[in-house]
Amino acid sequence: MEEKQVDALVLTPGASMFYLSGFEHGHAAERLLALIVRRNGSSSWIVPAMNVPQVAAHALPGQPIRSWADGEGFLPALRDAIGGAKEIAFDDEARAAFLMDLTQLAPHSRIHQASEILRGLRMCKDVDELVRLRMAGKVVDDTIPLAVALCRAGQRESDVEADLRRALLAQAPGCTVAFTIVASGPNAALPHHETGQRLLQKGDVVILDFGIRETGGYHSDITVTCSVGEPAEPEVRQVYQTVWAAQQAAIAAVRPGVACEAIDRAARSVIEAAGYGKQFLHRTGHGLGLQVHEPPYMVAGNAETLEEGMVFSIEPGIYLPGRFGVRLEIIASVGAEGATLMNAISAAELPLAKES
Ligand code: ZN
Ligand code: ZN
Repeated sequence: MEEKQVDALVLTPGASMFYLSGFEHGHAAERLLALIVRRNGSSSWIVPAMNVPQVAAHALPGQPIRSWADGEGFLPALRDAIGGAKEIAFDDEARAAFLMDLTQLAPHSRIHQASEILRGLRMCKDVDELVRLRMAGKVVDDTIPLAVALCRAGQRESDVEADLRRALLAQAPGCTVAFTIVASGPNAALPHHETGQRLLQKGDVVILDFGIRETGGYHSDITVTCSVGEPAEPEVRQVYQTVWAAQQAAIAAVRPGVACEAIDRAARSVIEAAGYGKQFLHRTGHGLGLQVHEPPYMVAGNAETLEEGMVFSIEPGIYLPGRFGVRLEIIASVGAEGATLMNAISAAELPLAKES
């Protein structure tokens, strides 16, 4: 805040508030609950009266909690908290209506995105965070053989998803399933397919993309591509090998000082050389931590350089509309000498599920 001359930082429930305070709350919704940090080092809370005990359990000793009742509303509390602040950093993931309130209360202040302040802190993980990310990674790694085995002909995508979620929860009690994508046959050509009711068929390619949130709030994110028996199209193996080689090239490019865009380029060059450049529809990777997608992004145009402790996905893919798709994803962290993987390496050969 000193560097950026920001006078007040306003955070609402979400990853950044959790990062700084350990407090999280899933349904404060239209009632403003905020952590205010001032540049002089003081900080305070604005809390709906009914949430005060929850916040008090996480507040620092002596940290003021300004409670507000429904009959009063939160505007007076917010006005007091930002009083005199000319440069205000506001949580970029908060409800837009709170931002509108803020701009009315402080019409002459300049509003910044809170991520300008937080991103540098959150991007480079410390030892404890890396341990948690590795643990979260191990849970999904250990589920891969079962996830592949679930892809039998006659199962619906939604059946596979339900069984996969159950397996993840059984593997790691206390964790939650962050997300699951099961995309079969032509659906695998959509990078973010919504799991549906399609019946898996013999010869289908299936993309399984899933992750958990461990007890400390850190995530895993992995993508496995398999086939229900022998793939129906001979080209599947060639595409799989291209994606695998692209992923290895990106992993090999990781080291401190390398630009994020160079990681994307490393993967993309391999796919372009194989003639599938136009079918690689998305960036190569995204940061991972308290959120499943967070900075840094491995994308063309991002000249930001890798630093030790950064953690991100490496997930090249090739998508052939109406036919099939292949994506392979693992999580890497930047070590002094190169990549340290948070997951086991992706299978070099297309895994085959038993047909039935
Ligand atoms: Zn993923
Ligand atoms: Zn991902």
